[in-house]
Amino acid sequence: MLDSTNAPTFVYLDHGATTPMLPEAIEAMTDQMAMVGNASSLHTSGRLARRVVEESRESIAQAIGARPSEVLFTSGGTESDNLAIKGTFWARRDADPRRVRLLVSTVEHHAVLDCVHFLEAHEGAKVTWLEVDHVGRVHPETVRAAIGADPETVALVSVMWANNEVGTVQPIAEIAAVAHEFAIPVHSDAVQAVGQIAVDFTASGLDLMSVSGHKIGGPLGVGALLARRDARLVPLSHGGGHERQVRSGSLDVPAIRGFAVAMRHCAAHREEATARMVTLRDRLIVGAQAAGFGVQVTGAWEPGDGTGRLPGNAHLLVPGCDGDSLLYLLDAAGVQCSTGSACQAGVPQPSHVLLAMGMSDHKARGALRLTLGHTSTEADVDAFLAALPAAVERAQRAQVATSGKPTR
Ligand code: PLP
Repeated sequence: MLDSTNAPTFVYLDHGATTPMLPEAIEAMTDQMAMVGNASSLHTSGRLARRVVEESRESIAQAIGARPSEVLFTSGGTESDNLAIKGTFWARRDADPRRVRLLVSTVEHHAVLDCVHFLEAHEGAKVTWLEVDHVGRVHPETVRAAIGADPETVALVSVMWANNEVGTVQPIAEIAAVAHEFAIPVHSDAVQAVGQIAVDFTASGLDLMSVSGHKIGGPLGVGALLARRDARLVPLSHGGGHERQVRSGSLDVPAIRGFAVAMRHCAAHREEATARMVTLRDRLIVGAQAAGFGVQVTGAWEPGDGTGRLPGNAHLLVPGCDGDSLLYLLDAAGVQCSTGSACQAGVPQPSHVLLAMGMSDHKARGALRLTLGHTSTEADVDAFLAALPAAVERAQRAQVATSGKPTR
């Protein structure tokens, strides 16, 4: 929906799913789309395209504390997660057949979870799930206990930097330090963290880290895997041997340029963006709690804090209703958000993240995720708060009518 000035007529509170492209990223990308050149070609156009790729690689590396040679371009977060996990699993098992264990947190995004399930079902991987506490945090000592008495059998530890549903930030550097005591490599999915909180690849001690363009104001369909020079990876697809021989395929030069511009913008404005989003997030949470429906906030929330929870994440539990009903009612009222739960065969499932945090199946169904980003304003938050009471009342009535009892 657009009005006559092309401005959206809805309130967008789903930046965790994807955030609008920054105008400067659109400009850079469209400029580049008008140019010909395969970055692998040797002629002038090819060399110019290569220059754009290498300058983008440098910008991205600089923005997240990495060396340019550690940035491998991919098609986004999902591919980066798959390359990190499958690629490391195969390389480590090839080097020593005893290395078949994967230590993975229970609250990962499906890009990690389903990759791990695949390795378990088809490649003989043995998975130790790293439990979280009631706010969704993995404790470094949980990692130590999971490594246990046979560290030589562990292929990889994978723990996300920040959770996409409840926004909980993990103690990544401490987790990496524990695994490194046993020379075990560590991967982190930092798709939600980059752009919102300080992320420094080298300082974190990680071996591998996944990032995505469309969560930071860059285009969809581009991302990167940060991989230390000594990280060994078996490629997922084979071809021209691009990107350190591990990710073949002609590079999407316009998308890479747009991604780099967005990354530079985020690095330059992160502190002010964090402060602004924390203020908006707290206004939203406090306002929703004051609405009088017994709304609870899940995860690690401290008013004013932008380090333990993503600054732009508000995740609420609304008693007595189904999150999906609320989502549709809010959408009809012009407010777009998400529940965080997945649909399987058309049937909404409670979120695995909330279940892992110890919530009952019943309670987890009333979840609503509101995520803020660079275009969010106080007016957006207030529009949500204004639409909430009528949506909750209708969703609660629908819940009673369908099940005879409200969700608690
Ligand atoms: N990891 C996390 C934590 C995410 O939130 C997402 C996207 O929602 C992904 C991975 C997948 O990234 P992409 O959409 O770039 O494939």
